[in-house]
Amino acid sequence: MRHGTREGGSVYWFPLAATPRLTRGAATEEAALLKQGTTTATADADHTANLWAYIRGGFVPLAEAQISVTTHAFNYGTAVFEGIRAYWNADEEQLFGLDLLAHYQRIHRSAKLLHMTVPHTPEELVGLTVELLRRDGLREDAYVRPIVYKSSESIGVRLHNLESDLTIFAMPFGKYIDTEVGIRAQVSTWRRTDDNAIPARAKLTGSYVNGAFAKTEAQLNGFDEAIMLTQDGHVSEGSAENIFLVRDGVLVTPPVSDNVLEGITRRHLMDVAGDLGIGVIERTVDRTELYSADEVFLCGTGAQLAPVIEIDRRAVGDGKPGPITRRLHKIYFDAARGRMDAYRHWLTPIY
Ligand code: PMP
Repeated sequence: MRHGTREGGSVYWFPLAATPRLTRGAATEEAALLKQGTTTATADADHTANLWAYIRGGFVPLAEAQISVTTHAFNYGTAVFEGIRAYWNADEEQLFGLDLLAHYQRIHRSAKLLHMTVPHTPEELVGLTVELLRRDGLREDAYVRPIVYKSSESIGVRLHNLESDLTIFAMPFGKYIDTEVGIRAQVSTWRRTDDNAIPARAKLTGSYVNGAFAKTEAQLNGFDEAIMLTQDGHVSEGSAENIFLVRDGVLVTPPVSDNVLEGITRRHLMDVAGDLGIGVIERTVDRTELYSADEVFLCGTGAQLAPVIEIDRRAVGDGKPGPITRRLHKIYFDAARGRMDAYRHWLTPIY
């Protein structure tokens, strides 16, 4: 599937095709892979004509939401952001924003780390997002991208004495990675940035270069995703996802002190597991536990819930999504689309 093409009414901004394996010296194949791995959310006029953005305190057509090349955040990666999904429920003709408040509480925490004040409370940001999505009038799954960025047009590496601004835009959005068949992952040679280098806990734009190194390496090596280790060699997370293992019927996930983003999907799945009576242990995870786990899955707003069926060319379990993964998968997708009363409180109806 080409990214940016409309299929069944959705714009898939990210390529999903299974990545072919690279053969040594296959230059043209590598060039094709490089192209494929380029996850450009091409904001061309065709796809954005009717979309809006919030910037500098007001709503403007998305095409007019521009920043200068001299902007501090563009030069130094000094911005914090969120990735939020909204799910279209065709039966109810309703678009549901998934856990908007939690995302905006997190952007506040991320902003604090970068010495930024967000010009609105989390509740107000939820309100702005509802208004944005209503203006966009989307009747399909969407992705919302708020960014609080150092807006000063100024050269100089620092975090203080700089102005900041908020922008929010949304786009139609399909799958980021496969969520059904299962993905093949590689333990990355790139280590996760440490809390005392660039904290993974906060969603800082600059720190995504770390994940991009890992993701591109994995895809060019013929895998779908990367699993990153901490500096001391323990399992941390995927390039843009938290990770869970299943061992003897219990979920195991690295603690938030192992350089992971404190994921909202991670939290939800831990709550769902609790409701199902499935135990969850947060503890440091060794690399080789990945190879002996019964089940492994990645989770996140973009990735949703992606079963991992192979890691470093070793089958996970019997090489198919396992029973606990499938159970959580079904609940997660039903809940996100507003089909489960028990988790309706995760959702904000847009219309
Ligand atoms: N880790 C990283 C590095 C991420 O980028 C994401 C996606 N935001 C996640 C984990 C999952 O976080 P969440 O469930 O809050 O989207």
